[in-house]
Amino acid sequence: MKNRIIRGIPVSPSIAIGKAFLYSAEDISFFSSRRKGNVQEEFSLFEKTRRKSLGQLRALKSDLKRLGNKESTKLIDVQILFLQDPLFLNSVEKRIKNKKESAEKAIINFLKSLKINFKDIEDSYIKERYLDVKDVVDRLLKNIHNKEIDMELPGSDNIVVAKTLTSSEIIQMSRNKVRGIITERGGRTSHIAILTEALNIPTIVGTNGVQEEIEVEDEVIVDGISGIIVIKPDEDTKRRFEQKEREAAAIQQEFLKKKDLPATTIDGYSIDISANIELPIELSSIKKYGAKGVGLLRTEFLYLTSEEIPDEEKQFRFYSEIADVCSPDYVIMRTLDLGGDKVFKTKEKEANPFLGWRGVRFTLGAREIFRIQLRAMLRASAKGNVRLLIPMVSQVEEIIEVRKIVEDVKEELRKEGYPFDENIEIGAMVEIPSVSLLADHFSKEVDFLSIGTNDLTQYTLAVDRGNKRVSALFDHLDPSVISLMKMTVKGAHHNNKWVGVCGEMACDLVAMPVLIGLEVDELSLPPTFIPQVKNVIRGLSLKESKKLLEKVEKKESANNVRGFLKKELLKRFPSLKNILVEVENDRNYR
Ligand code: PEP
Ligand code: MG
Repeated sequence: MKNRIIRGIPVSPSIAIGKAFLYSAEDISFFSSRRKGNVQEEFSLFEKTRRKSLGQLRALKSDLKRLGNKESTKLIDVQILFLQDPLFLNSVEKRIKNKKESAEKAIINFLKSLKINFKDIEDSYIKERYLDVKDVVDRLLKNIHNKEIDMELPGSDNIVVAKTLTSSEIIQMSRNKVRGIITERGGRTSHIAILTEALNIPTIVGTNGVQEEIEVEDEVIVDGISGIIVIKPDEDTKRRFEQKEREAAAIQQEFLKKKDLPATTIDGYSIDISANIELPIELSSIKKYGAKGVGLLRTEFLYLTSEEIPDEEKQFRFYSEIADVCSPDYVIMRTLDLGGDKVFKTKEKEANPFLGWRGVRFTLGAREIFRIQLRAMLRASAKGNVRLLIPMVSQVEEIIEVRKIVEDVKEELRKEGYPFDENIEIGAMVEIPSVSLLADHFSKEVDFLSIGTNDLTQYTLAVDRGNKRVSALFDHLDPSVISLMKMTVKGAHHNNKWVGVCGEMACDLVAMPVLIGLEVDELSLPPTFIPQVKNVIRGLSLKESKKLLEKVEKKESANNVRGFLKKELLKRFPSLKNILVEVENDRNYR
């Protein structure tokens, strides 16, 4: 069949057309027939291998520096730091000494113990942190066996199709000048996203099961702007995407030039535009793409990249660095949002993790973990530009309880002489329909609300976005979701509280008239999408957006809303035609 469409998450906004190369890295779980030595020999082998790996990574880093890729060198820094991390070194040493394990077994067992923490995590971006560690472990094991890190590599006319890719694989592929990358795993904040964006490789991630859909040498279009993959395009489709490729690059450049202008509509309605980030490496993107501070700092990765719960000092350093970089703009720090069975080795499995012990339900149950995080965040608030955000709230009482704990922690810090922001604002995520329906009540208990359209859509439409069979039913432009958002804004504004949107809807250009029409006060989105979002907002007016919203509210399905809004948007921004280009049978997939 010609023009088969698959949708994924676009992470590197450019387009490529090429021949599919199905890539699968070799599994690391090999053992050689090497005879195990005594404790001292195993330990020296580990040390020798570790130093060799450090040397390779440093060489890789200077290669990247020469290429002018400062940001991606930070990813390599993470791996270098890992090889020097006392936690890792002590763990391997103990295993070799006390359990008499071989060097490779000790390394693999360390990785396994981490895997238990990561095992049931649904969020792909957290899974990616595990992959960074796996990447280094892979290198160590290969070095123990003196294997060169040589991969069967795609070339300059290829689009790489992989389940996932490690940082070194991506860098190697960039050297080989591959045209584009498609991965099954990964999200907007994954290392794949960060690296491919820095290396300027058109990339789409989060395309569950794509390796089964594409055959070797199939012609494939990777549209890193809209997230569309076209398999075996017909001539007409190919021509249109080639044109889009040429024009989109020019438009993106234009947008980038105006990134620092405010997002104010023609008739003077202003929306704050801030960034969603997760890792220190992303800090440089805040200014680069014109964000006003951070509207959503996800903190889960901190907990899942080490064997132990991160201590207060480690968290404090991380939060303070971000607050410093953003100052005087604010950083909204979200407290831990892990699912019930996704945390730590001791947790029992739940039948319905998405409806279970998640987000604030977990932190209220695991008080010590919560208090450590709150202490670190409060200490980082001393400059006055930190706000707290509570995820997965479903009951007003949860907020009241959180406030009590925050007050208690403040008292503790006061006694210990730590400075912090006495008036720190506390907001709640709106991810569950009950919160929208009762927004008036919730707003009385918080300083602001932030709508997480990813979960709000998932819980409203009962669609698991990660499930390929039903993901076509997932659309935040469903009139039911818009209706819940309207109730949220009404409830918040009635109580003089501001409302932000920090889910994927905040970077969907077609959704801008809805977001403006709803009069949301802030949008927080992945940094690379900020210039285009700002540009569209500046070309719309509040008055016309309200009219469009009225029409949207009368529609009966997400398909109709999306089709209608797209047409209206193109009337006002004909130049976006090539950015919003779709393919003949795309509608079948929505
Ligand atoms: C959301 O649910 O929209 C959100 C921003 O939170 P997360 O994607 O981290 O679940
Ligand atoms: Mg969420």
